[in-house]
Amino acid sequence: MTASEDRPSHSSSQRFPASVYADRVARAATLAADAGLSGLVVTPGPDLRYLVGAQVDTFERITALVIPAVGDPAVVAPRMELAALRDSALAEIGVPIRDWVDGDDPYALITDALGSGIGRVGVSDAMPTLHSVPLADRLDIRLELATAVLRELRMIKDASEIEALRRAGAAIDAVHRQVPGWLRAGRTEREVAADIESAMLVAGHTRAEFIIVGSGPNGADPHHEVSDRVIERGDIVVVDIGGPVAPGYNSDCTRTYVVGEPDTKAAREIEILRQAQQAAVDAARPGVTAESVDAAARDVLAAAGLAEAFVHRTGHGIGLSVHEEPYIVAGNDLVLREGMAFSIEPGIYFPGAWGARIEDIVIVTADGCESVNRTSHGLFSAH
Ligand code: ZN
Ligand code: ZN
Ligand code: ZN
Repeated sequence: MTASEDRPSHSSSQRFPASVYADRVARAATLAADAGLSGLVVTPGPDLRYLVGAQVDTFERITALVIPAVGDPAVVAPRMELAALRDSALAEIGVPIRDWVDGDDPYALITDALGSGIGRVGVSDAMPTLHSVPLADRLDIRLELATAVLRELRMIKDASEIEALRRAGAAIDAVHRQVPGWLRAGRTEREVAADIESAMLVAGHTRAEFIIVGSGPNGADPHHEVSDRVIERGDIVVVDIGGPVAPGYNSDCTRTYVVGEPDTKAAREIEILRQAQQAAVDAARPGVTAESVDAAARDVLAAAGLAEAFVHRTGHGIGLSVHEEPYIVAGNDLVLREGMAFSIEPGIYFPGAWGARIEDIVIVTADGCESVNRTSHGLFSAH
């Protein structure tokens, strides 16, 4: 890591070149028009970060990017928050900021920025009701969720996002390679998690968004995080870790470890899980549905009598959010397209005994998919 990459708030490491954002805002306007909307109003959250590279955190004082279907976009923001917008791409892509101070009416500024003849308006799903209710009142229309419009953009990762996801994958792989050295009988899950957390930061993560170290029976609970349980010899341990790597794209990878020698039956079942995960990776390609990828993993487990042990969906999309569209789940007939990125993470859980999960992030390519996680998938022995 060079000295300049070390500086956490260096703006260029927190976002892409301005042209990327200019293109996204233009496409959002086109998609809004295609959906018959007069425009979009996007408040702070992953959508705002995606569209203009802005990381702001206002709540009761509204900040909003207004993208009319026809006409020029603008940002409405409280004057006291302008500093937070300085690192965004707004100035470079020529989007003006209309600032307001306490006592002004920011909803009037938003209505104004939308232009005349306003029909249906889409709002980002992160908009607080605190703002959507007065805004709907002011526009005298029913607001709609812009989720469907914005997911069209965010689901298909462009070249710079794919590169960012690859970097995040390599960073978390570097941490998983060190895990066997930290998993020892007599240590607690929390001690192992502390080692993982520092390694994640060293590997380039901005923070550890989540760290799951589920040893023995704790591994059977997919929601377990960490505890003071002391790891024992023979324990199977699920380690699921991830977080954002500049410019904000998340890693998320699970491997299953064993401390010492595994029980033979467990080792055999984890080998079937590995085959199920591989079957889903092999099934992911453009033109197939999200649910068919879920079924590919599920069928392998079902054939081995393990259907009941697989209690969650196969995966979730990932990008600026750890969980986003597309969801790899039964009932989702969304057709996969090149550039979609999601996890493939089947697991098997035996309450009171043990659990296992294997997770990679994959990106759909022209004829299959690419995994950004490259460490091997079988049961790892730690001593
Ligand atoms: Zn995970
Ligand atoms: Zn995941
Ligand atoms: Zn998750």
